[in-house]
Amino acid sequence: MARRLPAVPQRLSAHLDVLLEVQAHDLVIDQLRHRRERLAERQALREAAHEATGVDRQLADARARGRDLARRQRRLEDEVDTLAAKRAGTEGRLYGGTVQAPRELEALSQEVEALARRTRGLEDELLELMEAGEPIAAEAGALEARRQELATEADRLAAVVAEREAEIDRLVAVAVAARGEAAGGVPPALLATYEQLRRRLDGVAVARLEAGRCTGCHLALPAVELDALRRAPADAVVRHEECGRILAR
Ligand SMILES: [Zn+2]
Repeated sequence: MARRLPAVPQRLSAHLDVLLEVQAHDLVIDQLRHRRERLAERQALREAAHEATGVDRQLADARARGRDLARRQRRLEDEVDTLAAKRAGTEGRLYGGTVQAPRELEALSQEVEALARRTRGLEDELLELMEAGEPIAAEAGALEARRQELATEADRLAAVVAEREAEIDRLVAVAVAARGEAAGGVPPALLATYEQLRRRLDGVAVARLEAGRCTGCHLALPAVELDALRRAPADAVVRHEECGRILAR
């Protein structure tokens, strides 16, 4: 079909060829930027950060429970110390020889026994608290280890992301330079139209007409439209009616 169309003057045809080249560079730049956005390592980095936040929360909770137990433990230990002092005082009176009355001695002996009982009770409680603290300490330890692992992994991923970004940025710079050079050969008005269309048309603003089909949207042009294109002035910028793309005839 294209062969049967009237010859386009060298100038416009050349401009459209250059515009296609600009577009090829633009598409490469789009792909590179897309790849930069979607780096698998960037996603993994986000996931690691997300998990680290969760681990931090669990760790803070475990540490708070550990501190609470430690506080209760200290209180009990203080109480045990107080009881021990009291018991030492009572025993001093019991065995000191100043108290002689059997009744009084019996009462002191009972007090010593009562203090010993209370002490044993508190020591049992202390033991329970210490046992309760063990799994909490183990949990905190495991969380700290996971936190460390995540930090190491995040560092590694950040380095990979930076490396990939630098690689992509180098390629983008090359493509941008080539694009700029090519764009210099396109009349500003045509370039402006192209840029406007590209934003609307998924990045493809200019297409070729090949065998009666638009290479932008892949639709065959109706005979009437092909006929109109054939009659269009050779220097007119024509667009595919269906998709709106500039057609390089
Ligand atoms: Zn089209």
